[in-house]
Amino acid sequence: MAKGRIEIREDRCKGCTLCALACPQGVIVMASDHVNAKGYYPAMLNDAEGKCTGCAICAVACPDVCITVYRQVPAKTRPSAAV
Ligand code: SF4
Ligand code: SF4
Repeated sequence: MAKGRIEIREDRCKGCTLCALACPQGVIVMASDHVNAKGYYPAMLNDAEGKCTGCAICAVACPDVCITVYRQVPAKTRPSAAV
């Protein structure tokens, strides 16, 4: 399965939680220890176990286009050379 990671533009986040609710891997959490410049508790990636698959569901769910998704696609194996 592909590995992924996301970056969340904290300054744009309005803390609506839609991305956290949408993530099938449950790796997005809402900050509870700080607020952003707008006064909202922003979403954060919490993925110490590397569960993010880069599916991009969170990015689609975010109404404020805060999330950029990076996906690591396994290198394709080369076909063996004909002899
Ligand atoms: S890309 Fe998919 S798995 Fe990764 S944080 Fe977003 S919704 Fe979750
Ligand atoms: S969906 Fe977007 S605006 Fe809402 S909490 Fe997630 S990153 Fe923030």
